[in-house]
Amino acid sequence: MSRVDDLLTLAGAVKGFMPRSEGLALYENALSHATARPRGTWLEVGAWCGKSAVYLGAAAEATHSVLYSLDHHHGSEENQAGWEYFDQELVDPFDGRLNTLPTWQRTIADAELESTVIGLVGPSHVIARHFSTPLELLFIDGGHGEEIAWGDFELWTPKLSPGALLMIHDVFPDPADGGRAPYEIYLAATAKGAFRDVAIEGSLRVLRRET
Ligand code: SAH
Ligand code: MG
Repeated sequence: MSRVDDLLTLAGAVKGFMPRSEGLALYENALSHATARPRGTWLEVGAWCGKSAVYLGAAAEATHSVLYSLDHHHGSEENQAGWEYFDQELVDPFDGRLNTLPTWQRTIADAELESTVIGLVGPSHVIARHFSTPLELLFIDGGHGEEIAWGDFELWTPKLSPGALLMIHDVFPDPADGGRAPYEIYLAATAKGAFRDVAIEGSLRVLRRET
C-alpha cells in the first residue's frame, strides 16, 4: 500500500464524525487545490480525535503544506455527558472533563504526521484574533451554536487568500437533518459572490474565495 492509502485507511479508523465519502472529498479537494498552490498554511477549526486532520494531512504532506488543527479539546455541547454524542472513554479521570487531546496526539503520531499537522489548543475566537498568517485552506468543523459558528466564519474567513479553499462541515439545508448555523454561514459565504461552490459531498461544502 502507498503512503496515501495507509493514511486514508488510518483516518477511517479514527473516532469521529465524518463519513468516509466526506473524508475522501476533503482529501481530494485539498490535494487538487494544493497541487497547483503548494506549501500553503491550512487550518481546521474542530480537531476532536484527529480524523479530518489525517484526511487533510495526507493532502498536506503530499503538497508540502502545513495544517493547523485547532480545538480546545473539551468537546462541543452535544459531546457532553447526557447529550447525543457523549463518549465516556474520552473523559479525563483527573478532572472528569472531556479531553480529546491525548487521543488526537496519538492519532497524529500513529499517522507519522507530526511535522505536517500542528495542534493549536484553545478557544477558536481567541486564537483567531492573534493569528495573522494568510490561509490557503480553511475547514470549519467546530461548535455548531449560532455564536460560535458565526464567530468562526467572521474571524477566520478573512484570513483566506484570494483563490483559497473554504470547506464547511455539517451543512444541512433541511432543518430535520441537523443544526442551522453551518448552513447559514454557508449561505452567507456564497450570498455576495465572495465564495463560489467547488464541490458538495454529503454535508461537506467546498468553496473557493473569489474576492
Ligand atoms: N473535525 C473533527 C470533528 C470536530 S467536532 C473530526 O473529523 O472528527 C467539533 C469540535 O469542535 C469538538 O472537538 C469541540 O471541542 C470543538 N470546538 C467547539 N467549539 C470550539 C471553540 N469555540 N474553540 C475550539 N474548539 C471548539
Ligand atoms: Mg462535523
